[in-house]
Amino acid sequence: MLIIFGLRVFYRTIAQGTFHCRRCGGDRQYRHRAGRRWFTLFFIPAIPLNSVGEHVQCATCRTRYVVDVLQLPTTAQMQAALPAGMRAAVSAMLRSGDPSSPVSRQRAIEAVIASGVPNYDDVMLHADLVQSSDAIRPALGQVGAQLTIQAREWYLAEVIRIAMADGPLTETERQAAQAIGADLGMTQAQVVGVVAMTEQSAGRD
Ligand SMILES: [Zn+2]
Repeated sequence: MLIIFGLRVFYRTIAQGTFHCRRCGGDRQYRHRAGRRWFTLFFIPAIPLNSVGEHVQCATCRTRYVVDVLQLPTTAQMQAALPAGMRAAVSAMLRSGDPSSPVSRQRAIEAVIASGVPNYDDVMLHADLVQSSDAIRPALGQVGAQLTIQAREWYLAEVIRIAMADGPLTETERQAAQAIGADLGMTQAQVVGVVAMTEQSAGRD
């Protein structure tokens, strides 16, 4: 009798989920797979041999990636991080000044609406303002990690204009700008630059 034997790699799925596929250019389903070489008898896996590593495969285009690809945010996560970060930043800034100032509140609501929360209003702002500042800081870190340096500066300038809506920046508002900038991943010098630039441009109009 002829015995047919061989070696073959079999993959099993160890996890599934959604990731950002660069090839597809969007959020797709993935399979996280681990491979193992098997000794086969009559094409049936008989003896497990060495493991041959893991990969992440796009369920749509079948492209295989190294597992690190799962560290990258999905488009949906990016889109959620922007408004979450803006809500955190505006409430941190309002608290450092006069949170009851109607012009500052209005400016804050407009900034959050522009960042992607069309139904944001004074009631939601109030709910954000009563949260502890420790609870909102991770949202700033998350958005900062995803933004380019220029985008962080734009973001911070937006927040500084909220503080300036009811008058020149106070010392505590400057400190809040430093803290928000630091949470966004900016250096102290970068924050000082953005504050100066925002104050200058406000003086012109
Ligand atoms: Zn794909």
